[in-house]
Amino acid sequence: MAEKWVYFFGGGRAEGSAKMRELLGGKGANLAEMSRLGISVPSGFTITTEVCMRFMNTGGKYPQGLRKEVGTALKKVENIMGIRFGDPQNPLLFSVRSGARTSMPGMMETVLNIGLTESTIPGLVSKSGNERFVYDAYRRLIMMYCDVVMEKAAGIEPKEGQGIRQQLEREMRKMKDAKGAQFDTDLDASDLKKLVGIFKKKVKQVLKKDFPDDVNDQLWGAIAAVFRSWNGRRAVAYRKIEGIPDDWGTAVNVQTMVFGNMGENSATGVAFTRDPATGENRFYGEFLVNAQGEDVVAGIRTPQAINKVSKTKASMHLPSLEELMPKPYHQLAKIRAELEKHYRDMQDIEFTIQDGKLFMLQTRTGKRNGAAAIRMAVEMCKEGLISKKEAILRVKPEQLDELLHPLLDPKSEKAAERLAEGLPAGPGGAVGQIVFTADEAQDWAKKGKEVILVRDETSPEDVHGMRAARAILTAKGGMTSHAALVARGWGKCCIVGCGGLHISASKKLVSVDGKKLREGDWISLNGTKGVVYKDKLPLLPADPAKNVYYKKLMAWADNRRKLGIRTNADNPQDAKTARSFGAEGIGLCRTEHMFFGPDRLTAMRQMILADDTAGRKKALKKLLPLQRRDFTGIFKAMDGLPVTIRTLDPPLHEFLPNDKASQMEMAKQMNVTVDAIKAKVQSLHELNPMLGHRGCRLGITYPEITAMQVQAIIEAACKVAKQGVKVYPEIMIPLVGTEPELENQRQVAVETAEAVMKKQGVRVKYLVGTMIEIPRAALMADRIAEVAEFFSFGTNDLTQMTFGYSRDDAGKFLPDYLAKKILPSEPFQTLDQEGVGQLVVMGIERGRKSRPNLKVGICGEHGGDPDSIGFCHRVGMNYVSCSPFRVPIARLAAAQAAVANG
Ligand code: PEP
Ligand code: MG
Repeated sequence: MAEKWVYFFGGGRAEGSAKMRELLGGKGANLAEMSRLGISVPSGFTITTEVCMRFMNTGGKYPQGLRKEVGTALKKVENIMGIRFGDPQNPLLFSVRSGARTSMPGMMETVLNIGLTESTIPGLVSKSGNERFVYDAYRRLIMMYCDVVMEKAAGIEPKEGQGIRQQLEREMRKMKDAKGAQFDTDLDASDLKKLVGIFKKKVKQVLKKDFPDDVNDQLWGAIAAVFRSWNGRRAVAYRKIEGIPDDWGTAVNVQTMVFGNMGENSATGVAFTRDPATGENRFYGEFLVNAQGEDVVAGIRTPQAINKVSKTKASMHLPSLEELMPKPYHQLAKIRAELEKHYRDMQDIEFTIQDGKLFMLQTRTGKRNGAAAIRMAVEMCKEGLISKKEAILRVKPEQLDELLHPLLDPKSEKAAERLAEGLPAGPGGAVGQIVFTADEAQDWAKKGKEVILVRDETSPEDVHGMRAARAILTAKGGMTSHAALVARGWGKCCIVGCGGLHISASKKLVSVDGKKLREGDWISLNGTKGVVYKDKLPLLPADPAKNVYYKKLMAWADNRRKLGIRTNADNPQDAKTARSFGAEGIGLCRTEHMFFGPDRLTAMRQMILADDTAGRKKALKKLLPLQRRDFTGIFKAMDGLPVTIRTLDPPLHEFLPNDKASQMEMAKQMNVTVDAIKAKVQSLHELNPMLGHRGCRLGITYPEITAMQVQAIIEAACKVAKQGVKVYPEIMIPLVGTEPELENQRQVAVETAEAVMKKQGVRVKYLVGTMIEIPRAALMADRIAEVAEFFSFGTNDLTQMTFGYSRDDAGKFLPDYLAKKILPSEPFQTLDQEGVGQLVVMGIERGRKSRPNLKVGICGEHGGDPDSIGFCHRVGMNYVSCSPFRVPIARLAAAQAAVANG
């Protein structure tokens, strides 16, 4: 069958359906679906994403047959609507909109009111009986078309503030000022007529071309521009952040225009079938009377609430849609119920009321923050809309992160100086220094600063800065403004519509209530309440356990998952935090972290400086009680759970200072000469320290170090065991590549442990195992498992050694590799399942061949990465271990892996 490029919808029929989002994009697929459901959708057609990719790949050529298919679909639309495109008496107008497979809010282009020309205008005036409306639509068409088609799609890059759209906006502002008009709606028909003339002249003057007066030129110009916007700056930047492939392409939706700006009986709005900020099951939305869709999102006027529950402080005094237009509101409420039932998920909908008649323009799965996602999943399951399995799959593991994010300390909040109040668009607390542009936000953040992006309103051009900022604060805009939508998607703290702020980005100044704040000043945001404070307030760690929906979802997840979840922690506080987040043990305690404390670094350095075993033992004696104390605390915090402790791993030079000043200070402190220190530093110098004298190699050369550590572990274990603590120490030897290496260290460990237990008169159950982090260890896993009582994959080193990428230097080239698509993802973050994964599979298989019940875990960074956790589940590991704050993420990811893999 020949390829089909165009899919018609309308009049209760559609050639496409919701299942075809890859080809029709989300918007096109759902317009088709709504049409099939008999919901009132203005008729139109969708040109496929496939056409987009062909168009882009051939330098702007359409596939053969496209124009004919568009012509046929257009005829069908005309027949359904009973009017014709370009008809001078009664013209049909079109909107031309983008629509990718997943929603990219505001990142691509739209042109509305296509089909208005000198010849069709009089027809529409007489049909609508509303000259003002027609000229308002025409001036919008000129503004959008010139901006999107004649400037952006033509590759013209004007200077800051000199874009055609901005120039036309200035003309409009001038006219409003001359008339003393506050809103666009204060301009009457004759003003707008005049304005249109001014616009056309300006366009010709700036772009050296006439605004097209032929309906087909307008239509095809808009189609091409929307396709081209797939590769626009904003869209490319957004795709990079969201990980959306460049070869998906966008579809183009050409749809009959319906008008929310036909007068006081018309309106346009955006709504969510449930509250996207809290997840609560209530219909939530905003609208504007006598407006087109772009006005709602642009935040030009304060939007009104669709019903009582949606009212905010700003819209409290304005009537709701329910009060103003009860009939279309109740139809809308009915459609809300129908769509939720049909899609079985929260929908984000756009509607227009034209002269009292309701039309649906879009439905899509609504973006939501983490807390809302959890609440919706749990409540929808309880309502019988989705199953428990689906509820588990509904929340992205990373979204849990938001619940774990800090809040402003309520006590300090009470005492703090309140600057302003706005709409709570993104929950949680944030503190940061003020910056006024997206580029500055990005630059400052790169330098490690915490910033809050403060703007009148954001536009899709700002996404990179919004991403880099801790939080976003805008003076304008409602809960569906660009800033709110984007921040919500990312779960970022955000306050919008903060009317009290007067921002001058050029002066880098914001005044509020007579106070002046400048770039770099600290402010604090409570995004849950929408309050802005002066200065940097303390942040409190989050307490997800207080969220009943979170608890429920995690209980369901824990029930499903097969993987155990442990944590990487090396002090009692982290251990406690991780346990409170649901960790079931410690998978990696890096003992070297304990040697950096000020009370022990000296002893450690004495040990390193010692010339002989006796000298080392003397220094180690000082370290022993300190280590014992650490382990005692950790064992207590992990009462009843296993604790894997790794013997010393990094090369010793890491503990010595390199610069002269610090070397002198050390010499003074330790009562030795600077030369002695320099000589030691030199003798420890290695060309490839990552492949040098580290890991078990240290313990083999200096068995007294391993012995001291094991003594501290077992003494602490015996001590807490006597106090009734259930203790399960697991001694782990790092960087093993051969069986004899492990055997050597195992012997030291066992001899020491047995001696301690004998002396203490208690027995504790302990294991000796190894990390698998050298490729050879994975290859020889059967032999190594004869000695090791457990395996833990150290995928940081395993990745380093398999790829041959230095962990410490890969930052120099990996970003380039990712940008050039030489690697699909950062291999130190997401496990390279194809390559490194083979070694993991081999290691597990071979290890279990000689020890069938071998316990296997992972403790590299990948243990907290949802994708890699899925892999760990599939290859039959027993547990993953990750940093404390990733424990909930790992619990959910493990459950999702179990659900997805049956
Ligand atoms: C590893 O190599 O994966 C590991 C956990 O050890 P470290 O990161 O401490 O080298
Ligand atoms: Mg390692």
